[in-house]
Amino acid sequence: MNIGKSILKMLKDEITDVEYNRYIKQLEYCTESSRSDLVCFKAPNPLIANWIKNRYAEKISTLFELKTGIKPAVTIELKNSKKQAGKNTTVSTSSNDSAKQSLLNPSYTFENFVAGSSNQFAYTAAKNVSEKPADIYNPLFIYGGVGLGKTHLMQSVGNVLQKHGKNVIYTSVEQFLNDFTRNMRNHTMERFKDKYRKCDVLLIDDVQFLSNKIQTQEEFFHTFEALRNEKKQIILTADKHPKQIAGLEERLRSRFEWGLVADIQPPELETKIAIIKKKCEINGVHLDNEVVNYIATIIDSNAREIEGILSKLHAYSQLMHQQITTEFAKNVLKDQLREKHDTININQIMTNVSKELNVKPSEIRSKNRSRNIVYARRVAIYLARELTPMSMPQLAQYFGMKDHTAISHTMRKINQLLNEDENFKVKIKELSNKITTAPALK
Ligand code: ADP
Ligand code: MG
Repeated sequence: MNIGKSILKMLKDEITDVEYNRYIKQLEYCTESSRSDLVCFKAPNPLIANWIKNRYAEKISTLFELKTGIKPAVTIELKNSKKQAGKNTTVSTSSNDSAKQSLLNPSYTFENFVAGSSNQFAYTAAKNVSEKPADIYNPLFIYGGVGLGKTHLMQSVGNVLQKHGKNVIYTSVEQFLNDFTRNMRNHTMERFKDKYRKCDVLLIDDVQFLSNKIQTQEEFFHTFEALRNEKKQIILTADKHPKQIAGLEERLRSRFEWGLVADIQPPELETKIAIIKKKCEINGVHLDNEVVNYIATIIDSNAREIEGILSKLHAYSQLMHQQITTEFAKNVLKDQLREKHDTININQIMTNVSKELNVKPSEIRSKNRSRNIVYARRVAIYLARELTPMSMPQLAQYFGMKDHTAISHTMRKINQLLNEDENFKVKIKELSNKITTAPALK
């Protein structure tokens, strides 16, 4: 048995049979494209490829590390797709910072982006920047709520410019900081400066996370200055206007507004419908207009939900050998809607919180008072209260607390934090979206 197969077999022991049969079983390991630090699998369609990328790539990478001692990047390619220049269908993920940073999602292109009145201004600005980088709008600052297409739009510019031979770096604030501290520790700051200051285009996602990070802001300021002086294009995204980012140094805030600040609003029904159609087209899923309309009415503004829904419909229709009619979609998604609102189970919450905050589920349920554990416990309780039908006494019992008053105390604390801290609010919203939009796997 080749190593890829044996890794998938190890994964089988950790997940449910349904998950295994629906997704993992369809993967094929490509010996010829894999190396010790980069392993490659093939998936039959983009939905499965994306699903694996989001849910399992990290786990697969860790299993490889257990076996070989090296933690590889994981790439999922499409079966039967000859890699054509300019039409790359690979989706990749990587646990290695520098590999992650340079990877643009090849499907985040202008062609795949639906422009509508909610995003027209940002779309046009991005398009202009892709045609005349570092000319008119520098930096370009795009802001708006979760799942409204900020990353997609920013990477569309990156993809165009990369095709024109520009050196494009895409990174998050967190990765930028990690990179900085690692190079600092290894006394390789020259490498850091070389990398960030010699690129042609710097894309930094979610800069609201710079909030209150003094050292990152300092380093970022110098990088920003160096790049602008060299007439290199910078694009930034955030969940809010620079003025509204608390704990941001004045000199950065003013620079963020130097170029163009463009917002994206939640899509209207028409745009939502067009986005669903676009996603169907990209993923090779056929849906009748009626079904598309139905989906558009049940999702809120976050377009991230769409892929989860299509993936679920597709998987069910294959499994049950049925066409996706409106009736069928209603049945499948009724479940999803109900789950979304009240039958998310506590385990889904514990798994996500634990992974996101790096605290073990057993610690979350313990009486440990360490700061980070108390924090994770509060987040888990809040999400459980919001997303599951569990009552306060049930929650108190589950989390090993005295009684329901301990839960209501926690809820008050969290609500206070939500009111005070925009960053925290966004994080919670994202976590909650992650939990509610993942198609249920039981
Ligand atoms: P954000 O960065 O604003 O949170 P993303 O760019 O990650 O949002 O978008 C979330 C998902 O929704 C992606 O799959 C993206 O392709 C899709 N999406 C969002 N807006 C649009 C749009 N206008 N047209 C096509 N796809 C979109
Ligand atoms: Mg984003």
